[in-house]
Amino acid sequence: MANRKVEWNAMGSSVCSMCKRKEAFFFRPYSGEKLCKGCFIRSIEGKVRATIAKYKMFEFDDRIAVAVSGGKDSVSLLHILAKIERDYPKASLVAVSIDEGIAGYRDEALKIAGENCRRLGVEHHIISFKELYGLTLDEIVERLREGGETELTPCAYCGVLRRKALNVIARKVEAEKLATAHTLDDEAQTILLNMFHGDVMRIAREKPVTDNVHPKLVRRVKPLCEIPERETALFAYFKKIKFQSMPCPYAPEALRNDIRLFLNRMEEKHAGIKYTVFKAAERIRPALERAAGVEILKECCLCGEPTVQDVCKACEMLQKLRA
Ligand code: SF4
Ligand code: ZN
Ligand code: ZN
Repeated sequence: MANRKVEWNAMGSSVCSMCKRKEAFFFRPYSGEKLCKGCFIRSIEGKVRATIAKYKMFEFDDRIAVAVSGGKDSVSLLHILAKIERDYPKASLVAVSIDEGIAGYRDEALKIAGENCRRLGVEHHIISFKELYGLTLDEIVERLREGGETELTPCAYCGVLRRKALNVIARKVEAEKLATAHTLDDEAQTILLNMFHGDVMRIAREKPVTDNVHPKLVRRVKPLCEIPERETALFAYFKKIKFQSMPCPYAPEALRNDIRLFLNRMEEKHAGIKYTVFKAAERIRPALERAAGVEILKECCLCGEPTVQDVCKACEMLQKLRA
């Protein structure tokens, strides 16, 4: 932060470029803005409102489930949506969390998520891997290690099982939309990750608002998809929002980590490059969607959740684990 301040002073005045009164504390390299604390907070809220409007994420009377893990992005999203929701009396907000069963990590995060919900007066519902699948993530990892699994990481299991769990709980609370806290960083990383995995067609599916493809699949929206992660952290910090900062003990996928570091280095040198990656995917998506054709979903013959195959990915993984 100190270095940034030196950077603005080197650029000249450090007066906020929005209100033109207060001292700026934050420099946004990709737009050239210098912002004071209040204007920074307003700019984040304004950018989220603009993203919601641009992608038509919500209807005025939607029941919105916000996926809250307890980390900085999801609690910031909860605070922003709670504020926006006050302007829409017919809309309602509910927080949903997944307890994967990661001892010493998720329990702490869920406590923080609960505290934020109470502070905002938002109902909070939790569903656990244990009650849904009969196993915690810790138990799954133990089985993987015992079985000598080297192909799939804990994150691969966690991602698939959490995705299904979120859909189950969003449906249970009768939500029309499920808002997740994917930031611009997450989106840019995922686009490159899909390319590096050679799975470009996934770029077509992972968009800011998913289509209405199956009555049992709650539509997902990503209101933070144009906000850099660094700014959600600062937003939480300046709003004095409590969040969990401890990292998950199961290190995230190695390739994603490399991409994160690469994108951060590129962003330092070429401000705005993460947004360029995001926009490039937006531009190419219609062509990819035409090439991929319409995906027909059916119900998993084991659990009834929407899936492309006869058995959904989550059930397939669990079957393999049990075997
Ligand atoms: Fe799950 Fe991996 Fe995230 Fe940990 S880092 S919560 S294991 S996806
Ligand atoms: Zn200002
Ligand atoms: Zn299934």
